[in-house]
Amino acid sequence: MSGPEIVIDIEKIRSNTRSIVDFCRRRAISVTGVTKVSCGMPLVGRAMLDGGVVSLGESRIENIRRMRASGINAPMMMLRIPPLSRVDEIVANADISLNSELSVIRSLSEASLKRAKVHKIILMVDLGDLREGIWPSELLEISREVINFKGVQIIGIGTNLTCFGGVLPSPENMGKLVEYAENIEKAFSIQLEIISGGNSSSLPLLMENRMPARINHLRIGEAIVLGKETVKGTLWPGCYGDAFQLSAELIELKKKPSVPIGETGMDAFGEKPVFHDKGDILRAILNVGREDVTIDSLIPEDEKISILGASSDHLLLDVSHAEKRPVLGERIKFNMNYGALLAAMTSNYVGKTPLLGAERKMNTPDIVMIGNSPLYKNENLLKHLSDSGIIFEVSEEKITNQSIHNIFRNKKTPLIGGELNKSCESLKGLSLSFKQSGLIILSPNASLLSGKSSEPDEIFLSEVFGFGKKENDLSSCISPENTVIIGLRETENSEIEIIKKLGIQAYTMEDIDLLGMREIMINCLRRACNGTEGFYTRISTDVINAEGEGLTFREAHLTMEMISDSSGMLALDISGTPDKSWIDDRALCSIVESAYGKRILRL
Ligand SMILES: *Cc1c(COP(=O)(O)O)cnc(C)c1O
Repeated sequence: MSGPEIVIDIEKIRSNTRSIVDFCRRRAISVTGVTKVSCGMPLVGRAMLDGGVVSLGESRIENIRRMRASGINAPMMMLRIPPLSRVDEIVANADISLNSELSVIRSLSEASLKRAKVHKIILMVDLGDLREGIWPSELLEISREVINFKGVQIIGIGTNLTCFGGVLPSPENMGKLVEYAENIEKAFSIQLEIISGGNSSSLPLLMENRMPARINHLRIGEAIVLGKETVKGTLWPGCYGDAFQLSAELIELKKKPSVPIGETGMDAFGEKPVFHDKGDILRAILNVGREDVTIDSLIPEDEKISILGASSDHLLLDVSHAEKRPVLGERIKFNMNYGALLAAMTSNYVGKTPLLGAERKMNTPDIVMIGNSPLYKNENLLKHLSDSGIIFEVSEEKITNQSIHNIFRNKKTPLIGGELNKSCESLKGLSLSFKQSGLIILSPNASLLSGKSSEPDEIFLSEVFGFGKKENDLSSCISPENTVIIGLRETENSEIEIIKKLGIQAYTMEDIDLLGMREIMINCLRRACNGTEGFYTRISTDVINAEGEGLTFREAHLTMEMISDSSGMLALDISGTPDKSWIDDRALCSIVESAYGKRILRL
């Protein structure tokens, strides 16, 4: 990664969640883990569930879908009150929603009846923060109507504080919430399962043992992801404050004056900057700017580094007093407050790399060749690859998920020459080794024909996404959002429907002609790497040439070179049908060489 990047330490998120969940449990409070600041990143949702939350909370349907597509079946709570126009999607994707409008609740009820479901709702009460919520004087009246709706069930009431008005949770306002809940229970002879006392800002009240006993639920985001309570912003006991860290590369380091020279006008953002003369200082420029992140709320990890300012693409630092004198090319790290994290996670320019245990270095992979391909002779491929200085070993084992898993366990990269067709086994091996990976498929087929074919090459992808045998379902490790198919020529309508439904990125030959391979690969790599530990590349040799209908050699090379530059490839799988393949051993070798970093022409 050369540009700005957020490294997300999944273990720290799990651990922060565990600390907070345990703390709350001792006070008889259950926790919904709020994933919205991570844009519903599946690994983050899973870490929260591992840490013991009872459900996940999200404010956007798209993010809920993202987690569902990754196989997360936990109860989902929709936090932002639903828009009337999307009630059907809410009942389809979320189990519980927070609500304050009668007509929306009525529509939710109708929508869930159509699906023969009962949607759970929590009525939000406004205790004075003046964001969402029913005004207390109207609560009983609205409850009376809602209780008659057959498609929804009131499971509790809740409130949200410290968001708009900055109102702090107190024994008084929390006591009111309990009182309102008991009024509803008495008036309608029902029992409310949940009294939800707010968000991270309610934790201090718990700490001081001033939370009324019947409050039994909180929705916690910031305290888990940033390890902080939100009233004073102090680190929560036992939590990490650096689960998310932003870094960017140092691209200029020079001693220069602290005050600009010459008459000054407005800066790039129409402000008149003010400078204090500190004499010459050691100034560093990083390759990150206002187009990527919110600068004002970045906190340098090294407290002795200070931020001077930023333009669209440059961040300027005073590193005169840095703990360790930085060097060009080094990555400087920052912690973030909530606003900076939110902006950076939403930015397309910022890479998101999960950290899951030991870091892998993939620039110079140790390659292990495995499998007997009908497409090429292993001896020939071996000879070519060792001639070009790509050193590797050969495994005599058969392709099984275990043999592939073992290669990964030894921190090596498999080069898989599957007999027809072992991709399902290899991908299982991948999923045993990595929690979340991307998938780049170069093939004329979508391989999504489950139920209509039993040819492995035509169905393996539908199996991976759970449309086939249960034991082949790998959707919790390989998400459709991280899957791309390049070079499609033959697709059935049923496959197109699945591609659309799952949100797989697919590029046909026509797209490649229109957009060009470079543009397409930039997109594909972003997708395959976003929130994953790396990606699996599967090239079906049929994708190339085919009487001018397929990829050209040049395009295939460019693809492989860009894959190599990304340093993200975990495995290379070569498949194809011998009689349809347009490529001989030699040509195939050169393509494989590109994938491992060899350039046709190095100037
Ligand atoms: C975002 C949100 C939360 C979580 O807030 P944090 O301060 O991140 O803990 C809880 N409830 C609702 C309704 C929210 O929108």
